[in-house]
Amino acid sequence: MTRKLFVTTALPYANAPFHLGHIMEYIQADIWVRHQRMSGNEVHFVGADDAHGAPIMIAAEKAGITPQEFVAQIAAGRKQYLDGFHIQFDNWHSTDGIENHQLSQDIYRKLKAAGFITSKTIEQFFDPVKNMFLPDRYIKGECPKCGAKDQYGDSCEVCSAVYSPTEVINPYSVLTGAVPVMKSSEHFFFKLSDEKCVEFLRAWALQDNRLQSEVANKCREWLEGEGGLGDWDISRDAPYFGIEIPDQPGKYFYVWLDAPVGYLASLKNYFGKIGRDFDAFMADPTTEQIHFIGKDITYFHTLFWPAMLKFSGYKTPDNVYAHGFVTVSGEKMSKSRGTGISPLRYLDIGMNPEWLRYYFAAKLNAKVEDLDMNPDDFVARVNADLIGKYVNIASRAAGFITKRFDGRLGAEDLDAKELMQTSFAAITEVKEFYEAREFSKALRKIMEVADHANQYVAQKAPWLIAKDPSRDEELHRVCTTALVLFKTLSVMLAPVLPQLTQAVGAWLNCKIDRWDDALVPLQANHQIGEYAHLMQRVDIKIFDQLFDAPVVEAASTPVAAAKISASSAVTPAPRPSPSNGEGEDGGGIEALAPEIKIDDFSKIDLRIAKIVNCEHVEGSDKLLRLTLDVGEGRTRNVFSGIKSAYQPEQLIGKFTVMVANLAPRKMKFGISEGMVLAASAEDEKSNPGLYILEAWPGAEPGMRVR
Ligand SMILES: [Zn+2]
Repeated sequence: MTRKLFVTTALPYANAPFHLGHIMEYIQADIWVRHQRMSGNEVHFVGADDAHGAPIMIAAEKAGITPQEFVAQIAAGRKQYLDGFHIQFDNWHSTDGIENHQLSQDIYRKLKAAGFITSKTIEQFFDPVKNMFLPDRYIKGECPKCGAKDQYGDSCEVCSAVYSPTEVINPYSVLTGAVPVMKSSEHFFFKLSDEKCVEFLRAWALQDNRLQSEVANKCREWLEGEGGLGDWDISRDAPYFGIEIPDQPGKYFYVWLDAPVGYLASLKNYFGKIGRDFDAFMADPTTEQIHFIGKDITYFHTLFWPAMLKFSGYKTPDNVYAHGFVTVSGEKMSKSRGTGISPLRYLDIGMNPEWLRYYFAAKLNAKVEDLDMNPDDFVARVNADLIGKYVNIASRAAGFITKRFDGRLGAEDLDAKELMQTSFAAITEVKEFYEAREFSKALRKIMEVADHANQYVAQKAPWLIAKDPSRDEELHRVCTTALVLFKTLSVMLAPVLPQLTQAVGAWLNCKIDRWDDALVPLQANHQIGEYAHLMQRVDIKIFDQLFDAPVVEAASTPVAAAKISASSAVTPAPRPSPSNGEGEDGGGIEALAPEIKIDDFSKIDLRIAKIVNCEHVEGSDKLLRLTLDVGEGRTRNVFSGIKSAYQPEQLIGKFTVMVANLAPRKMKFGISEGMVLAASAEDEKSNPGLYILEAWPGAEPGMRVR
């Protein structure tokens, strides 16, 4: 029976580009979706940007653009990641889309009519200068427990105490520095504590196979814990970037109310494009609604979300699948520790996206576990398994078929009958593993089949048979059999390696789109194409480039067709605005950065620096180590990604410009204390050079550049 599936990934907050954790989730869901499509099921796989809320409103204001413009710029940068990693969403939308406004308001109206909305006047901190209520994170002050200064309004980073903003000593608004005042306001609540709600959630969350057991247990704790569920505050006061609450001027839905509705909105938007009936699809009892999410947002997805759908008369989710976080070499990813990995940089330095898909798949299972990315392990899995076991089979057999048999297959080897049968039988098992999101088990099974295929090839040794012209027929049979096995393996790997297996299909002149395609025999005389090498091995050295901070521009002038790059190893501070995100890693013409005020510029302390020494950095093919005199009576150590452009001796004695007040950064090779500036072309092909700035004679170390 054909299943009808509606599949989503969590909606990323539209204030920053994707990080590796997003890509991991998308790859996980994409593999599962591809498996469903190969099974002939109807799948609609959608995503969207989570566009609303105070952080985006404030970031947009700082950037001097509207929130709509801000999120549009972020959205414009999404495609390069999704295409780059072969993540095939049917639709990508925004929670600020018209569909989401309509659906969110409809859900609210129905909840209200059913008696699930209540209101209450609450007191909250208010910034009298900015004229807005302050979220906890926008209040700082002294910790009421340990007295540490500049702690957030909800928790202390020094002593880990958790408290309410009203307990903070000497509170101030992060936005204006003003002392916040208490002000009351009417808020709207979803009655999660309602008996009917609790009863429904218990049945929903604890139903067999709906949630992973870890998640179901967590739900049980929440439902049965002390005090039970509290009502959920779903409103925020203007100014707020969000969706207005019907008939309540100046009141908006809290971003977490309309964010998950964005799943439905994206599907509705997509169905509008392809001319399908959204309401009919969602009303169909056979439709399955499945959400892939990170473990940190299970509360929203297993309590609020199903409850608000249920009591507004919408379909409730069939499954919510949570995954863990990505760590790097056992640690939480961190820019300051140099363990942050930019997905775009991964692509830019020429790492194959299917290596990463394979690696993640090899480590993913159905549990809520963190996934560790470790360079040595990555290299081992890709080189030893993917290339050494799988690709190897094709490369050992393909040449003979082309050279000796005109690219035509022969008969299969009867000696290999059992091996063939085992490989076909493995498909059933592999499909079940994909279905259960046990991707690591699927790959282990596939590699087991690949091991047997390699043993067969090694045993038959076609390279030896080839030396004896009288054994041509045997050579033909052995190589044909190896390629048939290779095709079977390719079908099994297709959800993980979509591009590679399509290339295999084109080369073998057969379809690799459906599970059933594995069973279509390659007949004798079947013509195949010329073999081209399918995949390169990964070189461990490339990880130096992945972890080294990128050469990123700090500002740009399209007029001069050049840009000033912060060509240091120091990762630039997060951009105040995403407006040049498009050009971040070389896609298209780079737009001018958003306008800034003179005091924004004056925050950057640029100084004349004399390069007193410069040397290579052992183990890095990007960096030079600069010793800089900035007139401070000591020298500074700065790593700069300009090795491709200069020999160390060319730079010694030169006067250049550095950012002198950048926070020092600990790197693999030592601490970098600032960055030097260099220019580079937007289009690297037209001019691949990097040009360090040089001061006119007369400038002295330590002089400020303004
Ligand atoms: Zn404290």
